[in-house]
Amino acid sequence: MTDQPKSESLKRCSCREHRSDNPVPLSEFWKSNYKWGDGYQSYCRSCTTRYTKRWRVVNADHLRAYRHQRLLNLKDKQGSY
Ligand SMILES: [Zn+2]
Repeated sequence: MTDQPKSESLKRCSCREHRSDNPVPLSEFWKSNYKWGDGYQSYCRSCTTRYTKRWRVVNADHLRAYRHQRLLNLKDKQGSY
């Protein structure tokens, strides 16, 4: 008795490339921690990776400034005691 799936289920990625008539196999999606929906993230793996990389580049300076500011705030608080 063979128990193989007939065909891989497809899911529509929310990205611009895949959104229109270009569904991606479910295996290309990461599982989501959320209970609702189909249990998968709305963006496929390649899109998630791409967006994360770009987000890091765009926000690198901002993050550095934010950490620096936090350090300064901590020092201020410690100094006031
Ligand atoms: Zn995609």
